[in-house]
Amino acid sequence: MAEAVGSSSSVAPVDPMRRIVYVVSQELVKISSLLPSNKKRSILVHSLINSLGLLNPKFSEKKRVQVVTPRKATYKDLAVYHTRDYLEAVLNPKNGSLSDKFKGLSVDAVEIDREFGLEDDCPIFPGLSEYIQLVGGATLTAVAAIQQNLASVAICWDGGRHHARKDQAAGFCYVADCILAILALKKAMISVDPVPLMAKTLSSDEDGIQAATQKRKPRIMYLDLDLHFSDAVSEAFYAPRSTSAPQILTLSIHHTSPGFYPSSSRSSLPPYDSPSSSTIFDPLTLSIPLLLGASAKTYHWVFTNVVERIRSIFDPDYVIVQSGVDALAGDPCGTFNWCLDREVEGSMGWCVERIVREWRGKKVLLGGGGYNSPNAARAWAYLTSITLDNPLDLETSIPDHNGFPLYEPSFTLDVPAGNMTDHNSDEYLSTIETCYENVYIALRERLDV
Ligand SMILES: [Zn+2]
Repeated sequence: MAEAVGSSSSVAPVDPMRRIVYVVSQELVKISSLLPSNKKRSILVHSLINSLGLLNPKFSEKKRVQVVTPRKATYKDLAVYHTRDYLEAVLNPKNGSLSDKFKGLSVDAVEIDREFGLEDDCPIFPGLSEYIQLVGGATLTAVAAIQQNLASVAICWDGGRHHARKDQAAGFCYVADCILAILALKKAMISVDPVPLMAKTLSSDEDGIQAATQKRKPRIMYLDLDLHFSDAVSEAFYAPRSTSAPQILTLSIHHTSPGFYPSSSRSSLPPYDSPSSSTIFDPLTLSIPLLLGASAKTYHWVFTNVVERIRSIFDPDYVIVQSGVDALAGDPCGTFNWCLDREVEGSMGWCVERIVREWRGKKVLLGGGGYNSPNAARAWAYLTSITLDNPLDLETSIPDHNGFPLYEPSFTLDVPAGNMTDHNSDEYLSTIETCYENVYIALRERLDV
């Protein structure tokens, strides 16, 4: 059963640290399944997760799952980042009449489409308006769940649209839900744990706790595991000359090369040669580009040597993980060779398990790219089971359900690595290491502001 965030529940109270919120509704699945780049993927993902029993409160003894119905994002919610003109173009059914655009298309309508990126890989599709409101709302529902202390981790596999800009659709993304999530988390102050006070200064214990409780702005780390660079998110928060208190750090691990989407000057290694370098640089907007064939071995090196070091310096209160699965072997992108098995160091399962189990702070897990839909379903089902602290065996047979035939030939949960050569040599990794030694210095300096 689904319930709204903030509604009263008949379920016995559960420690929020032992609760996981999973955002889904039939309406969300139906509308997400219309996304032209990932048709029917959403229905496959949630059907597999359901058929494996992951949403049954009894699935895990250690963590309790609470299924929450997403709310629709309002115009005001979306306008926190998107421009009025863009929202008018994508939300107003009368504007250029979305349905008319499928029939005839006036020159004006085509111009409007082009201006807002609504062409090529981001065509207007029936239901676009509802899609934007529901996917934006689903991610904001996940954010609200952890802000309201309902859970330690909130999952929204239909979110993670990291290429959408404030005034443009791009790269299969129409709503900038990752950015909206960061902005929502940034807004509310958080309580700092009460500091025990000396009894002699207090009239009572209760007064003591009140007197010691402090509020401060939270720190948010956005980690993007998608094969593609998180251009829109990284650029939204890029502020090399900012002197305000640092609240947001974005870190994207991805492939980049000439002609590979998206083209962005910020997708390469930080342009930072030495601590005294005069290059304009923001140590809160970070990239780790990897070469073709990146495998678990490379991810293990990157994760333990760079990602976790950044995390420990920045020490976020919230972590948003864009968990696009197009870096996994078997994706039609055919660029990386990442695998799923948590028992393989550096695999996607291993990395996500480290984040949800060992990293301080609350987390929001979002989806993203992934163009082999059965593999996306496998991956997000497996990551859900890891988050619930009851990891499924990857040899688990796919249960008999509507999507079953699509899981041939293995009919199991695993997404194993393929035969691709990993071009990330020791020499290349040491280039990353050298660059990041300087980044750590710059980041520490920035955090001291
Ligand atoms: Zn991608």
